[in-house]
Amino acid sequence: MAGIDIEGLATVYPNGVRAVDGLDVHVEHGEFFALLGPSGCGKTTLLRTIAGLEPASEGRVRIDAVDVTRTEPGKRGVAMVFQDYALFPHMNVSENITYPLKVRRVAMATRTATAERTAGALSLQGLLDRKPGQLSGGQQQRVALARAIASEGKVLLLDEPLSNLDARLRLEARTFLKKLQRDLGITTVFVTHDQAEALALADRIAVMEAGKLRQLGTPREVFARPANTFVANFIGSTPMNLLPGTVSNPNGSRRDSDAVGTVSVTGGLLPATIFSVPSGAEVTVGIRPEYLTLATGDVSGPSLRGQVVVAENLGTQSLVSVDCDGTLVGVTVPEEDEPAPGAPVVLTAPASRVLLYDRESGELLA
Ligand code: ATP
Repeated sequence: MAGIDIEGLATVYPNGVRAVDGLDVHVEHGEFFALLGPSGCGKTTLLRTIAGLEPASEGRVRIDAVDVTRTEPGKRGVAMVFQDYALFPHMNVSENITYPLKVRRVAMATRTATAERTAGALSLQGLLDRKPGQLSGGQQQRVALARAIASEGKVLLLDEPLSNLDARLRLEARTFLKKLQRDLGITTVFVTHDQAEALALADRIAVMEAGKLRQLGTPREVFARPANTFVANFIGSTPMNLLPGTVSNPNGSRRDSDAVGTVSVTGGLLPATIFSVPSGAEVTVGIRPEYLTLATGDVSGPSLRGQVVVAENLGTQSLVSVDCDGTLVGVTVPEEDEPAPGAPVVLTAPASRVLLYDRESGELLA
């Protein structure tokens, strides 16, 4: 098994676009690693540069500790699954799966055995004689995966592997893919623009913006403590509340403090662990709707006051928008606790969930 080391990597297209702009990333042996970011941030270019399909303009790529920066794609030990699966329409499933082995002149009997074994692992038994045109989208996706796995690469690269599937099949394929990756233990890098998919599948996520890394962490880390307001905005199925606020630090500007102070925002106060952020500092306060609690009576301690504007049903939860002195704040509540529009409500949060970002740079302060 192989890890991937990416060092100072830049990929510049002939038109001058720096699609990958100075990246340092280490992918562990056997890790399921997601590249996540908005359209055009350079995810596919990074994947293609790892595969050797785009030349690196600066920096290096190492696979299994071997520098492959200038190695041709076929000799890097990577197997890639493309977004459109790139199956050969005139070949049947078996021939598609074993094509990489045929290219390497592996004997026919071995190829047949590999096709049967891989098809079994991917629930494609009984389909080996069909052409891609006679398969569903989910089956085509599994053939593309089977072909990649049969090629016995050290590293699996997947470009938006689930994007061609409808919503229901996508969820099924997601579970299947996660289990398969666990069972095989193969180092896998996959590209997605879907934050829910990255959170559900990945061991770690690299969040990219304009060719640069904005955060690298476990799904829990990027969800609970986004490193900047860009990631805060991008991660989460309900957007994080980002509110302008001013810090009141009971310890003034002492730099060793991890005391709980408060931040004033429109509509009231929230508690915050303010570390060394001095009193009076102007910040952006980040709080997820899931971490706010809504009450209708009096509460003790710092709170926000407002009126319910509207509630959206999210299934078992409702997302309630509360007007706090002209600023809308989102809070999720169990569906049965949904308050009526116009109701006066109070919002509270634990200090540990209230994040403070630098107002100018958007970087996490505390
Ligand atoms: P998406 O999610 O839309 O696929 P992405 O994050 O994968 O986007 P890339 O496809 O890597 O992004 O593109 C990154 C940047 O490089 C974009 O600005 C894109 O326009 C540019 N780009 C991509 N391919 C080329 C190319 N062959 N020549 C020139 N510029 C390119």
